[in-house]
Amino acid sequence: MSKRDFYEVLGVSQGASEEEVKKAYRKLARKYHPDVNKEEGAETKFKEVKEAYDTLSDPQKKSHYDQFGHTDPNQGFGGAGGAGDFGGFSDIFDMFFGGNGGGRSNPNAPRQGNDLQYTMTLEFKEAVFGKETEIEIPREETCDTCEGSGAKAGTKPETCSHCKGSGQLNVEQNTPFGRVVNRRVCNHCEGTGKTIKHKCGTCHGKGKVKKRKKISVKVPAGIDNGQQLRVSNQGEAGVNGGPAGDLYVVFQVKSHEFFEREGEDIYCEVPLTFPQVALGDEIEVPTLTGKVKLKIPAGTQTGTNFRLRGKGVPNVHGRGQGDQHVQIRVVTPKQLNENEKELMREFAGMGGGRPEEQTDGFFEKLRRAFKGD
Ligand SMILES: [Zn+2]
Ligand SMILES: [Zn+2]
Repeated sequence: MSKRDFYEVLGVSQGASEEEVKKAYRKLARKYHPDVNKEEGAETKFKEVKEAYDTLSDPQKKSHYDQFGHTDPNQGFGGAGGAGDFGGFSDIFDMFFGGNGGGRSNPNAPRQGNDLQYTMTLEFKEAVFGKETEIEIPREETCDTCEGSGAKAGTKPETCSHCKGSGQLNVEQNTPFGRVVNRRVCNHCEGTGKTIKHKCGTCHGKGKVKKRKKISVKVPAGIDNGQQLRVSNQGEAGVNGGPAGDLYVVFQVKSHEFFEREGEDIYCEVPLTFPQVALGDEIEVPTLTGKVKLKIPAGTQTGTNFRLRGKGVPNVHGRGQGDQHVQIRVVTPKQLNENEKELMREFAGMGGGRPEEQTDGFFEKLRRAFKGD
């Protein structure tokens, strides 16, 4: 049951910046994502990486982890309000009870259901604009027939006679240090504190059934690759009337053949001919929301960037919008006909386009470098 150190999982140091942690996570998540990696154990690895990232990317959880290591900050004991000083205690509890929560304090207490994860692949523009969609997930739900009790109609689960409903048994052991009493999960009722004589025919006594459930998901505009959305209470059913777990939708965004995305900004490259940049031109540039006109000033160099304000991706939290960056690339013609060649020679003969006049002394520096000055 021993868990790997979160920093080790992500391969970063304890002093790593938020950005470094994010980078490491993205790289590993891509590598082990169950949709991408079909190797055995990849999913477990992916979950491990995700868990490490969830903790290390949240300043509060990170500081708790740095202080107490692998304990669940939500697992408060006796209403102590968070783990706090009980951090170490939880570890010992895990050692005794296998860490699956099976034997914790009162087995009849309501417990939250398991969280679920669903991976959704989006087209580039779907991520930019968002969409509403329906997904179908297999999950465990409370059995309707017995309303979760696991007992046949007209009967009730009985209190386990071995542990008297506590779900735990005291086991005495003689050790060199004297007699030690350990508490263990009751093996007669598996820690539930109850036994069912007449099991429900639908769920065979488990109180839960596997169902495929349709859930509508609103993908927010501006979502990015690797980000996730929490859908509250759409995870697996809770135990003993506890709340359902949450559903986490993780997004994978496909790339686009023309646009590249970096956060909220969009990048693209536009090829232009020499006459266009030399004489200036007005061109049309595709954006996410249609074509816009862009003025190219005479004398524009290759590599020049133009910024189209507000033509990027909307912020996923609704705070503004990114820009589109258009980079100019001047293309040299590969084939010229005789007529064109003649005009080019004439242009060159007139001294046209001599770089000396245009590039801020660059050729002067080049000449000096050749001379060895
Ligand atoms: Zn029992
Ligand atoms: Zn049932």
